[in-house]
Amino acid sequence: MSYGTCRGKDCNATINWIETASGQRIPLNPGRRFVRRPLGSEDTIIVMTREGEAIIGAEVPEAEVEKLRDGGMQIWEGAVPHHVTCPNAGDFKKKRSKNSKGLRFPKRRLR
Ligand SMILES: [Zn+2]
Repeated sequence: MSYGTCRGKDCNATINWIETASGQRIPLNPGRRFVRRPLGSEDTIIVMTREGEAIIGAEVPEAEVEKLRDGGMQIWEGAVPHHVTCPNAGDFKKKRSKNSKGLRFPKRRLR
């Protein structure tokens, strides 16, 4: 993982670069987030795990992670891909949905 700064105009956010198993470099926002499989129609977020796997799930507060894992629930840990929150997301992808549901990664390489 390496650190960098988003070159998006008006952004300059700190980002962490990870490289997926397929060699794609993806910028992530700093900070860990935890998600579980969503139940019903909950709001979901997308996180990228350390292994480069994109997981869409319902967010779990960090304080509850251990308890839920003890109860046998699978919790994923990852970080939000920067293009989801970047004000210059148009530089990454053309269309954004109004909420985070149904977000997909763009097929083309991110810069
Ligand atoms: Zn940005």
